[in-house]
Amino acid sequence: MLQLNRTKANALLLGVTGGIASGKTTVANLFADLGVAIIDFDIISRQVVEPGMPSFEEIVEFFGEEIVDRDGHLDRKILSGIVFQDERKRKRLEDILHPRIVDTFIGQANEITKKAPDAIIQAVIPLLFEVGLQDLVHKTLVVYISRERQIERLIKRDKITRDHAANIIKAQLPIAEKAGMADFVINNENSLDDTKSQVEELWKKLKQIQDNP
Ligand code: ATP
Repeated sequence: MLQLNRTKANALLLGVTGGIASGKTTVANLFADLGVAIIDFDIISRQVVEPGMPSFEEIVEFFGEEIVDRDGHLDRKILSGIVFQDERKRKRLEDILHPRIVDTFIGQANEITKKAPDAIIQAVIPLLFEVGLQDLVHKTLVVYISRERQIERLIKRDKITRDHAANIIKAQLPIAEKAGMADFVINNENSLDDTKSQVEELWKKLKQIQDNP
């Protein structure tokens, strides 16, 4: 379990995950309306590979200059192409990135709890279960929608074909499987109001857990 700066900290870390377009951001924003802080792993994973960051240097050293674009940034498309085809290189990339992402996350969580020792913090981690990051958080939440609804929302949001959407979803761990591993599930199948009520219920529960650990 993540060791927060426990001077007096009674913070609760909620790992929020789900599938593509299942509503993680939507749910995170509803929690934020209730005062819950957000740490976004997608943002952190982009920050740690900014030019000049240690991960950037290590990646360039291993993969070579061809993964740097004209502006001096990492060319994520070329890099994903390389690691998609080579398991050993994918593992190396993960080994470089993973510790930095976790360190940055712990740093951000500590910053929040320094100011608010009783904070509830949500860490939005798309690949929480795939990467095995359960131990970083106290509780896990899966934002669930059915496969059909997921396809619909993905088509609408990203303006892609049904086949394309179905293929993206097929390559991911099914949300139902993730839901089976989570402490909590929010069903985001229906209206935003319905989801909002579930978020409010869960927020009350988390407060209770925090008050009676
Ligand atoms: P990604 O994995 O791609 O980052 P996500 O899991 O964060 O996606 P969102 O971006 O929150 O998902 O939601 C996906 C799309 O579905 C968005 O266009 C959002 O506006 C829409 N959406 C989310 N929840 C609902 C809902 N309850 N009703 C209707 N539309 C919704």
